[in-house]
Amino acid sequence: MPYFGCHLSTTGGYAATVKTALSLGADTFAFFTRNPRGSKAKEIDPADARRAMELLKAHSFGPLVAHGAYTMNLCTADPDARAFAAEVLCDDLRRMDALPGNFYNFHPGSHVGQGVEAGVDHIAAALKQALAQNCQVTVLLETMAGKGSEIGGRFEELKAIIDAVGDPSLGVCLDTCHVYDGGYDIVGDLDGVLKEFDRVIGLDRLKALHVNDSKNPFGSHKDRHECIGQGSLGETAFAALVNHPALQGKPMIQAHDPGNPQ
Ligand SMILES: [Zn+2]
Ligand SMILES: [Zn+2]
Repeated sequence: MPYFGCHLSTTGGYAATVKTALSLGADTFAFFTRNPRGSKAKEIDPADARRAMELLKAHSFGPLVAHGAYTMNLCTADPDARAFAAEVLCDDLRRMDALPGNFYNFHPGSHVGQGVEAGVDHIAAALKQALAQNCQVTVLLETMAGKGSEIGGRFEELKAIIDAVGDPSLGVCLDTCHVYDGGYDIVGDLDGVLKEFDRVIGLDRLKALHVNDSKNPFGSHKDRHECIGQGSLGETAFAALVNHPALQGKPMIQAHDPGNPQ
């Protein structure tokens, strides 16, 4: 079985959030490491984090999947803004040390006209700097829909980042809405897409999934989430995902929230 959960607010503390997850029947969850629009992050209370870790262990949770801020663009064109984004990444990973063994996932970024190659270089440089802190979480790049100049719409782009960073621990979080919007047909040929993922990146790097349906048709590059079963992917596609042998034991996060469409 995969682990199942959704996005939860941690404003009441981490131990309280684990209890909320338990009340929902979840055995993983996602949360934002700071306000998703990127304001200053709160320090994690070490006692609260320890209590949360005990609860996670006692209730056999899978890894949590923390989500970096959407506004953190590691490959933006402005060098000052880029340096700031890299600092945000370092700060997020430092604070996540309070919840060791879990996952931290983020959107690689948009190259805004500089080209994929320059974008990949910027992202890899920021990641190298952040990973040099010896963080206690596994860092995951998210597959994107390829909207605008987004990096990560093609598996090859994620692989280029992974190769440039050269860290064996760096993984990937596959978002079902994003890959379908990005032109990978997980509805008609899930096996084929996973085979392609394996060929390009390696399935051992696939650590977590965001399970969202899409408001738009296949290959639309739009990135608008829909509730599971109510979009263009449909219920059967999710049944196949949940039961796929290659996806067992991985956290699956349902991230659709009308107020929070990413
Ligand atoms: Zn999205
Ligand atoms: Zn995301």
